[in-house]
Amino acid sequence: METPEKFATLGLTYDDVLLLPGESDLAPDEIDTTTRLTREISIKVPLLSAAMDTVTESRMAIAMARQGGIGVLHRNLSIDDQAYQVDLVKRTQTGIISNPVTIGPDATLEDLDRICGEYRVSGLPVVDGSNKLIGIITNRDLRFTPVAEWGSTKVDEVMTPMPLVTGPTGIDRDAATALLRAHKRERLPLIDPDGTLTGLITVKDFVKGEQFPNASYDADGRLLVGAAIGYFGDAWERATRLIEAGVDVLVADTAHGHVHLLLDMVKRLKTDPATKHVQVIGGNVATKAGAQAFVDAGADAIKVGVGPGSICTTRVVTGVGVPQVTAVYEASLAARPAGVPVIADGGMKHSGEIAKALVAGADSVMLGSLLAGCEESPGELVFVNGKQFKSYRGMGSLGAMSSRGKKSYSKDRYFQAEVTSDDQIVPEGIEGQVAYRGPLGAVAHQLIGGLNQSMFYVGARTIGELQEKGRFVRITSASLKESHPHGVQMTVEAPNYSGI
Ligand code: 5GP
Repeated sequence: METPEKFATLGLTYDDVLLLPGESDLAPDEIDTTTRLTREISIKVPLLSAAMDTVTESRMAIAMARQGGIGVLHRNLSIDDQAYQVDLVKRTQTGIISNPVTIGPDATLEDLDRICGEYRVSGLPVVDGSNKLIGIITNRDLRFTPVAEWGSTKVDEVMTPMPLVTGPTGIDRDAATALLRAHKRERLPLIDPDGTLTGLITVKDFVKGEQFPNASYDADGRLLVGAAIGYFGDAWERATRLIEAGVDVLVADTAHGHVHLLLDMVKRLKTDPATKHVQVIGGNVATKAGAQAFVDAGADAIKVGVGPGSICTTRVVTGVGVPQVTAVYEASLAARPAGVPVIADGGMKHSGEIAKALVAGADSVMLGSLLAGCEESPGELVFVNGKQFKSYRGMGSLGAMSSRGKKSYSKDRYFQAEVTSDDQIVPEGIEGQVAYRGPLGAVAHQLIGGLNQSMFYVGARTIGELQEKGRFVRITSASLKESHPHGVQMTVEAPNYSGI
């Protein structure tokens, strides 16, 4: 029987296409890679680190946010542990401290010394009982009081009292830097018109800000962080605890997102007054209908990818999947008109695929294998024949889903929450290792540099222009061979090309 509807269109993936070069009159400093991560959050670098236990814990999340992207904390750990990791990222001081540690005027210098030691700070704003700023006390103020007298000397005897150089609540970074510079101060307390202390800025944190000019911040100047959630069992509790810990983005982390239970959960998260302020990314999908379902559920972004991942065996184990360029394009057909950003997740082997994903319709990309070899990813270095590697495994691999001495929280990603015995698990991923790549800063530099070059070739100043102007040419397997080094024995790997 003739059933043409049975077959979708031909599916293409990254190796099936190249971007056409276009007319370009750009200078390198004109290129801007700022993009929309979700409906409400923009980031300067369109990269996410994958929610995998060999890729993203707090260290990687901090490093990703400093580079201008965002890390998504994996969920193969208890709710307490995951919420603690969110807290670690949020406490990394890189901007305005919105809830500074303070001291009262009647406290002794001994108290001060103890508190400073506990919080590893060298001075504190002094506030009265109603949190009004009355002075500041730092190491400098202690210099002329012998340690023997610290127990009997009160803070207000030696503090520097008001009037101090202060900034208004909500001051922006540039204005704060100008004030600190003009008055040669190290600390800038922020106050409301009635004098209530609302924040503190320190020069030290601003130096870090200069070191990471692209860093992704929340409204309070803290680093942005995402965290993975599921939809079975205690998923709601996990989501709400992560929100309490200050997470900016919840990322539905499931291999097949086009399922009613998850869509219901996204709807609930986006309507409940206690949770709707947090951005929610739905996924994973690989069709227009799947993306539309998340648009309808109110998701703030949609993550695309069923089976393209380097460690993934879903397509061979189940026969299900959509080649990634087609999947991203199809999803964008539903997401773009609704103003919902798309994230291309998995299958990237080189920087060139980032631009291909963006031209296909993505707004940002999620990376696993390209980041698993970084210093900041979890896990130890392994030496094999004198070369350094780090382990990298699929969240649907036997290792990640089996108990092997500890509880696995990731089985429900693959619809196997109820499986209790390890030999009943049907894995959809493998365990392996990737070459050690050094600090994320260097790796991100190559990835972002590659994207900048793509934009130059296409003639695009912004990600929007890249998406608009970019055109693909479909290629054959002979062209793919031509694209890679050929006819030469590689003697030295480039930092952005290893031939694997
Ligand atoms: P990569 O960047 O390594 O090609 O792919 C990373 C992505 O693969 C992750 O963000 C996630 O969506 C997906 N993934 C992670 N583990 C597994 C797995 O075990 N099986 C499948 N099907 N996908 C996985």
